[in-house]
Amino acid sequence: MTVQRIIQRFSPLVMALGISFPLGSSAANGQVPAQAVLAVDDDRIKQAETEPGNWLGYGRTYEEQRFSPLDQINGETVARLGLAWRVDMQSTRGLEATPIVVDGVMFVTGEWSKVYAFNAVTGEQIWFYDPKVPREWGRKACCDVVNRGVAVYGGKVYVGSLDGRLIALDAATGRLVWEVNTIDRSRDYTITGAPRAARGLIFIGNGGAEYGVRGYATAYDADTGAQVWRFWAVPGAPSKPPENEAMALAAKTWSDSTAWELGGGGTIWNSIVYDADFDQVYLGTGNGSPWAREIRSPGGGDNLFLSSIVAVDATTGRYKWHYQTTPADNWDYTATQDMALADMEIDGVTRKVLLQAPKNGFFYVLDRATGELLRAHNYVPTTWATHVDMETGRPVENPAYAYDSPKWIVPGPMGGHNWQAMSVDIEAGLVYLPTHQFSLTYALEEAWKDDGVFQRVSGQFRLGIEVERLSELVVETPDPPVPFGRLIAFDPLTGTQRWGVDQPHYWNGGVLATQGGLVFQGNSAGYFNAYDAATGEELWSFPAHRGFLAPPVTYAVDGVQYIAVLAGTGGGAIPNGDAGPMARKYRNEGYLLAFALDGEASLPMPEERNQQIPQQPVIEMSPAQAKAGERLYNRHCAVCHGLFAISSGVIPDLRMMTAPWHEALGGIVLHGSLKLKGMPGFADRLNEGELELIRGYIVQQANAGRAQAEVNEE
Ligand code: CA
Repeated sequence: MTVQRIIQRFSPLVMALGISFPLGSSAANGQVPAQAVLAVDDDRIKQAETEPGNWLGYGRTYEEQRFSPLDQINGETVARLGLAWRVDMQSTRGLEATPIVVDGVMFVTGEWSKVYAFNAVTGEQIWFYDPKVPREWGRKACCDVVNRGVAVYGGKVYVGSLDGRLIALDAATGRLVWEVNTIDRSRDYTITGAPRAARGLIFIGNGGAEYGVRGYATAYDADTGAQVWRFWAVPGAPSKPPENEAMALAAKTWSDSTAWELGGGGTIWNSIVYDADFDQVYLGTGNGSPWAREIRSPGGGDNLFLSSIVAVDATTGRYKWHYQTTPADNWDYTATQDMALADMEIDGVTRKVLLQAPKNGFFYVLDRATGELLRAHNYVPTTWATHVDMETGRPVENPAYAYDSPKWIVPGPMGGHNWQAMSVDIEAGLVYLPTHQFSLTYALEEAWKDDGVFQRVSGQFRLGIEVERLSELVVETPDPPVPFGRLIAFDPLTGTQRWGVDQPHYWNGGVLATQGGLVFQGNSAGYFNAYDAATGEELWSFPAHRGFLAPPVTYAVDGVQYIAVLAGTGGGAIPNGDAGPMARKYRNEGYLLAFALDGEASLPMPEERNQQIPQQPVIEMSPAQAKAGERLYNRHCAVCHGLFAISSGVIPDLRMMTAPWHEALGGIVLHGSLKLKGMPGFADRLNEGELELIRGYIVQQANAGRAQAEVNEE
């Protein structure tokens, strides 16, 4: 048994005896206990196991296993679990953040990168900081205006804003200490990921591969905001010398010298993990930009460092090793999913390993010293590759699934697992993993096939696969894979599932496991559930009437254990027009929920939606005009308002437009009259004639929806 395990075992005893030292203290009178918060540093995070009452970092500890030693809430007591307090987050967008809890204070983010400090016992707000993200930046965000949380370090709270700033706030007051711009503001970069902190540095990446950017992560001095290093994920302009040896190495794996103009991708938008054992940082890199490799790198090549786990020196950012999960990515298979660090006995030897389930459907176990591949088992079905060859360390692609013609491929762009956190129970040898299947039909872009011209367009999805014809292809391509959502207890060494729980919908929340033998997860059907970690049996369920994406955390103050989680769906489900049944039925009113034994608070029901599509104006359109309207809609509108003009519920459903909205449509779309509400103008991309074609398509879809509703009534 490791020292950490002994401490973990010991701490519940300490808790039972009422000794308050490791369990945190309360935030008296709504004030942040400044001394305690100031004291969060590397040593404290490294010894996080000695204070299980706190949740000090994104994945709780530097190892990011998201497994808590707290066990007051357990299989015996969980039936008494109830809502202790809740906070209305004044949000209708996706909520994805991991709350950080330090000495009775909770730091969490909401929509548009807003930052909050709450008393973790009462939910009382201590301070609030709004970075005032320009709302038109929403057009650059593929997957909602979400934020996955803060880092708390050295008396400051750090957040990355959607519009690419890294912001340092005073942990005690929420006042701005410094902010730096981390991006080229002329390109479509966004930040949604949580910063990480170690070695006096703050690490942050960014997203935007779907819009044509070059990915990277940067380390900033925690005190001053000065840039210390930057690691580029893919090569830049070949006319300039490569930034470093890693870029020289990577450039050899790209065959087309103009690929860099399209962005290249590899965006590091979620997982950045510090490893104290090797003083290195792991960067999880994203998909290629554009997705289609034939366009991105026509002559072939692996396209380093797309879809990779890259280890760099923490203090210098120098490349140490990499493992590419998906060479020559062709499917939006990011390796940005959460990474957990562990010591595991493998084939009789204790190894320091890294665990990740990237989008591509295989669960990887790597040696952290060298990047050596130790295991790669399917955690969901894959059609793009048959298996990972353990000799070469490479996936074996299935040529039958090349998409020169339209094809359903699994996993789809949502992956078999996405950013929603997993939890690692090392003692049990299991990973509790939220998996799903939801596919799109991939087809190489016809326009590019015709003329070989592919251009990046600012603020527009450019993937290299058919976006304009997507709604047609979804209907026409045979054998669509059946979507599923499934929480599994997965053995990463054998690839077997100990148990699995099927969810009613594919897009569900992150996971928390505890020493209390429980696994917590919220789902898109609006339930927050506790499962028996040994069997998967559902032991407790709370109806929240809101879909969940965010991972729960647990903490303890004054001897009371809490489970906290954000409720509110959205995120990557928006483009599909399907964020689950709750988002359709109710207004997506986001809440922060905290549960404890014998909690007695209640949660207001969200406002029910009027789902009756109103009468539409009569618009005469030829079939050719209708088709043109559909394609324009798919190109410019669907990414937020949903394919088939059916909204996920998170963004307004355009089929619900009444006469006054139809009247206002020109002002909204062409002149940006709702810019401040997050709907920027599109005068740079659309003219009045095109808008009328789009309107015609929306009306057609609205009428189809009305007809369907009548059929359903009969
Ligand atoms: Ca992507």
